[in-house]
Amino acid sequence: EEKKSLNFLEQIIEEDLANGLSRDKLRFRFPPEPNGYLHIGHAASICLNFGLGLKYNAPVNLRFDDTNPAKEEQEYVDAIKKDIQWLGFKWANELYSSDYFQQLYDWAIQLIKKGLAYVDDQSSSEIAAQKGTPTEAGTNSPNRDRSIEENLELFEKMKNGEFPEGSHVLRAKIDMASPNMHMRDPILYRILNKEHHRTGNTWNIYPMYDWTHGESDYIEQISHSICTLEFKSHRELYDWYLDQVYSGKDLRPKQREFARRNLSYTVMSKRKLLQLVEEGYVNGWDDPRMPTISGLRRRGYTPKSIIKFSEVAGISKRDNVTDVALLEFCIKDDLNKTAPRVMAVLNPVKLVITNFPEGKEEWLEAENNPEDENAGSRKVPFSREIYIEKEDFREEANKKFFRLKLGKEVRLKNAYIIKAESVIKDENGEITEIHCTYDPLSRSGSGTEESKRKIKGTLHWVSIAHAVKAEVRLYDRLFSDEAPDNHKDKDFKEFINPNSLEIIDNAYVEPSLKEANIGDKFQFQRLGYFCVDTDSSTENLVFNRTVPLRDSWAK
Ligand code: ATP
Ligand code: MG
Ligand code: MG
Repeated sequence: EEKKSLNFLEQIIEEDLANGLSRDKLRFRFPPEPNGYLHIGHAASICLNFGLGLKYNAPVNLRFDDTNPAKEEQEYVDAIKKDIQWLGFKWANELYSSDYFQQLYDWAIQLIKKGLAYVDDQSSSEIAAQKGTPTEAGTNSPNRDRSIEENLELFEKMKNGEFPEGSHVLRAKIDMASPNMHMRDPILYRILNKEHHRTGNTWNIYPMYDWTHGESDYIEQISHSICTLEFKSHRELYDWYLDQVYSGKDLRPKQREFARRNLSYTVMSKRKLLQLVEEGYVNGWDDPRMPTISGLRRRGYTPKSIIKFSEVAGISKRDNVTDVALLEFCIKDDLNKTAPRVMAVLNPVKLVITNFPEGKEEWLEAENNPEDENAGSRKVPFSREIYIEKEDFREEANKKFFRLKLGKEVRLKNAYIIKAESVIKDENGEITEIHCTYDPLSRSGSGTEESKRKIKGTLHWVSIAHAVKAEVRLYDRLFSDEAPDNHKDKDFKEFINPNSLEIIDNAYVEPSLKEANIGDKFQFQRLGYFCVDTDSSTENLVFNRTVPLRDSWAK
């Protein structure tokens, strides 16, 4: 087996183990805020944390970071759980930061009693103005030296809902001159008169992210709390907060950072994805053009391809953008091995085989997947009238055109060699029928001399009498710019690709697809990989193109 080198986070863990951390103390968490659906960036964090769990046989908690009732909903909690399960990972415990509200509150009281926290009743703009700049010290709040008694009393009133939103905050008393802006008396609690999706109206005050996150890690005894780079400057505060509650006996969590996963031609922030949903640029969080896990699933991505992508893209210490082509490669590579080959015609033109008897049908043997010897074969119907793609025929063409042209031959996949003899056109000069003859001895796999003749072009087709009409949705990139949210004075939505969805409502697929179930994946030969959409029914088949095939005949 190939030996993989350790990534920098694994190196940190190995060092900690070498320095005496006991292996059975290793514990990780994945901490989503339930304010949106998970995206391919979250998949990086999921694969990383659950991957460490598997590697070290350590528990991984799923912790909902639900401290902002204004934006959080049960719908998101359910979607997040579904997506992680679909990826195939198992959490040790399902936990909620809101479960720790009482403990966090009790610790806040302790801080006040130690003279390390105070209630500030200035406006948020006054507080901001006193923050200073990275090069200039801030100024102390006039409330900084309130007595402990007064602070306890005011904080109690905040908790009991006696003050309006925005009127008071609880702040840690650290250092208004710290070179780290996060240390300049950060806010611990704010008043929010909002109903929380789990705690209802129990609380009128809600803890801030920094205060919540590290303490939750401590409560859960997380050994390595892995977050993204923008939290690096928060680490000092994370440690300061831990100092206030750490007993000195149990495990002290450690925050470490890695670079966020960015993907080209899309946006990844939940706030922006929510805008796309709410403003109708896409049809929901699971629109197949979205970089969400649910969108990718609906598009036809497999868990395996997403995990493979996370693995190949790797983790990094520096911000970077991963090319979406790598994600597409991962799904093509997976589906090439697993997706049955079938025939579908997206842009049909009628072709008549004039020397094939009227009313006759033949059921021909077709291999399901040349990449999988256990995939077997199926029968496809052949008859006098078939559809081929309009682009696969030209009356005249140069030598490089290996498809069908007048007077020349092609092979029909799994069937016969045909020769184009004439065309019928309508009054606009549009070809309505191509008339061909076939060589009855040339059937694929029949072993005859005629069947072995070398013919340059091979076309896919469906028998008109047997084909099933289907809707096919072709997707292109949602954005026409590589980094749509990287423009200083332009909104990311200015770069939305107006042609990201093309709906074909008169495609024809071979009859074996009538029985396909939602989520089933296929290679439409010569076209790409497609899957059955959630909108599909037996009466009205709907397919999504997951990804096109670049090469004309994938082996
Ligand atoms: P967003 O800006 O999309 O809302 P977030 O960090 O606020 O992202 P959370 O729900 O808090 O979203 O994220 C849960 C976990 O997933 C966190 O540990 C976070 O660091 C990680 N994560 C989020 N986005 C990415 C990303 N693009 N790449 C890697 N990890 C990510
Ligand atoms: Mg977050
Ligand atoms: Mg966020």
